[in-house]
Amino acid sequence: NEYVLEVTDLKKYFPVRGQKEQFVKAIDGINFKLKAGETLGLVGESGSGKSTTAYNVIGMEEMTGGQVRFKGQDISMPLAKRPLELKKEIQIVFQDPGTSLNPQRNIFDILSLPLKVHKVCGAGEYVKYVARLMDIVELPYEYMYKYPSTLSGGERQMVAIARALATNPSMIILDEPTSALDVSVQAKIINTLLKLQKELNLTYLFITHDLSLMRNVSSRVAIMYLGKIAEIAPTESFFQNPQHPYTKMLLSSIPVVTEAEEALKPTQIHSEGEIPSPVNVPKGCSFNTRCPFAMEICRQVDPQMVTYAADHTVRCHLCKPKMEE
Ligand code: SF4
Ligand code: MG
Repeated sequence: NEYVLEVTDLKKYFPVRGQKEQFVKAIDGINFKLKAGETLGLVGESGSGKSTTAYNVIGMEEMTGGQVRFKGQDISMPLAKRPLELKKEIQIVFQDPGTSLNPQRNIFDILSLPLKVHKVCGAGEYVKYVARLMDIVELPYEYMYKYPSTLSGGERQMVAIARALATNPSMIILDEPTSALDVSVQAKIINTLLKLQKELNLTYLFITHDLSLMRNVSSRVAIMYLGKIAEIAPTESFFQNPQHPYTKMLLSSIPVVTEAEEALKPTQIHSEGEIPSPVNVPKGCSFNTRCPFAMEICRQVDPQMVTYAADHTVRCHLCKPKMEE
């Protein structure tokens, strides 16, 4: 099996309070796969279901339906029910290291906890292992007995990355790992993540709303809209040959720096209004309320995923498979 992660028809519905039989479909049947050592970028506006996808893949939430497989093994159950040896294989780094690190614990305690829980080494070796983790993310050893509040945001995120590495995972989910940090610090975190990926053959699911960042880090990009994947493509085709009207809309709104970039930009597509509430997903294609190309069929029938080209799929009634030249 060449895939590290296979997500099939994943669904996560939340009941609407006080409304029997009513659900918010935070994720409504998504499919994607990750190969060893690659980065799949998951993009979308807030409320599109990106983080919910992360939480369900890692088992922090109990999925409503579908399947998640890790190296061929079914892990479609909450974290508590997953076998210990599989739990350590997928780790997560959250957006805000200020809240994801326990303020009552020093860096040594934070980094030795996963070593203890997953029996990575004996108690006598915690200091050695913690020091090694700090080496990997280039934090000075003096920080070992410091508390998160005395560190900068960037340093705290390095601690969170070191913690994710403690169990020697194959895969890390990065949920907007730099969006709470200064731009100058972002580059350092991203470079560290890319270096670690190469050295340790890590597979990343990289969640962000920042398309420029996505372009630099991902081998493939999946774009989410109201709990569904609208388009999934290799990064190059995604930026040079986007097919879904929503992708085109997002790409036409990112700032460009060079003329070459300007030339690549799709014609400006104006969005009509805001992303609808997930409680009230439009009938048919969920993008029809904002899509300048919406047709009658779009208001009635939810489009299926169409294979546009190798590795490039699109959920839109207008999409036809590309003809080979
Ligand atoms: Fe627009 Fe219709 Fe395509 Fe949806 S299916 S993106 S509404 S053209
Ligand atoms: Mg989020």
